[in-house]
Amino acid sequence: MQIYKVGGAVRDRLLGKPVTDIDWVVIGATTEEMLAKGFRPVGADFPVFLHPKSGEEYALARTERKSGRGYGGFTFHASPEVTLEEDLIRRDLTINAMAEDDQQNLTDPYHGQRDLEARLLRHVSPAFAEDPLRVLRVARFAARYAGLDFTVASETLELMRQLSESGELEALTAERSWKEISRALMEDQPQVFIEVLRECGALKVLMPEVDALFGVPQPEAHHPEIDTGAHTLSVLEQAARHKQPLTVRWACLLHDLGKGLTPKEEWPRHIAHEHKGLKLIKAVNERFKAPKDCQELALLVGEYHTHGHRALELKPSTLLELLQSFDVYRRPQRFEEFIAACEMDARGRKGLEQRSYPQADYLRGAANAARTVAVQPLLEKGFKGLELGEAIKRERLKALKAYKEAASA
Ligand code: ATP
Ligand code: MG
Repeated sequence: MQIYKVGGAVRDRLLGKPVTDIDWVVIGATTEEMLAKGFRPVGADFPVFLHPKSGEEYALARTERKSGRGYGGFTFHASPEVTLEEDLIRRDLTINAMAEDDQQNLTDPYHGQRDLEARLLRHVSPAFAEDPLRVLRVARFAARYAGLDFTVASETLELMRQLSESGELEALTAERSWKEISRALMEDQPQVFIEVLRECGALKVLMPEVDALFGVPQPEAHHPEIDTGAHTLSVLEQAARHKQPLTVRWACLLHDLGKGLTPKEEWPRHIAHEHKGLKLIKAVNERFKAPKDCQELALLVGEYHTHGHRALELKPSTLLELLQSFDVYRRPQRFEEFIAACEMDARGRKGLEQRSYPQADYLRGAANAARTVAVQPLLEKGFKGLELGEAIKRERLKALKAYKEAASA
């Protein structure tokens, strides 16, 4: 048997990027031989094994053929006769279809190295169209390598466009899509992921609620970039620049969905867009089965981001309601993430990226003030049950009044 490094490890070494996980392909072996060497079988779908010591993935060379809709609709053929070239041709991009032996000799039948130099994400063969997930993968790689000036080859974009129009994207499972979406959002330039999806028509299929924001104007006084879609991309860009976690990035992407529902006659104003957007955020959350913390934060940011921006003008009673909605006493981290999302929203405006955001510290201070209210003295005064709850609230309100006065003095 012959063993080669493939995929990302080869690509990233040639790019001079750190290699994190290594994928291997094995030519000329059978499952029985692998097991005899101590490899552990994994993966129900394909003959893939884990190395007994390193734990890295070793896949038997295989060919694939489409036999139905979606991901389940693949038949594969793995046998000792499958050649390296045959295995490489089923891969998505030329830069991912190179192999390397233990002497670092490159096998590159589909000109991955040429495309690396040309900074092009190009599909390997027309079979690209057989797996709609590749649309998301290409957009994700575009986001990852945008900083190195990679772009999607026009023929590949055209294939992605055909895939998006064909209805195949709808066959993707929530789990597979979310895995790509979440990884893409964590790249350095997640806005490029959304841009590429939009360019090939996939955004309209996957997240029509986000697609609808392009072409929707906002008041120029607050939003010099005017377009709501452009604003959303900038917010995402800021979130990545400020190294925000996935929860915040997801909330940033969805925070303004309500603006896509505003009747044209009301443009460029968006009255009550926060509230109107909630059902859209919920729909996107559920479509991709986003993790609970992402879902929750997206909904809270959608509902309250304007409160965040107006923090310094909020009445103490409104501030208190905000803090209560976030259960800031038990979930301090979530409130921090809300503040971060609001700040990214404010910074995601053309020309205002560097403007300070005093609301952030003000909100933190308010949360601290409310938190300082001690329960013990109220218990000692004999408050119980609902009355105790009311008493705590009254004390917190007092603390917030004092906080606001001190802050404006
Ligand atoms: P990463 O750095 O994100 O791990 P990678 O290129 O190694 O990038 P993997 O998902 O680990 O990506 O997949 C390893 C290789 O398998 C890819 O480089 C590609 O050749 C191939 N591959 C993975 N998924 C697909 C797919 N859906 N269609 C075609 N080829 C794929
Ligand atoms: Mg990999």
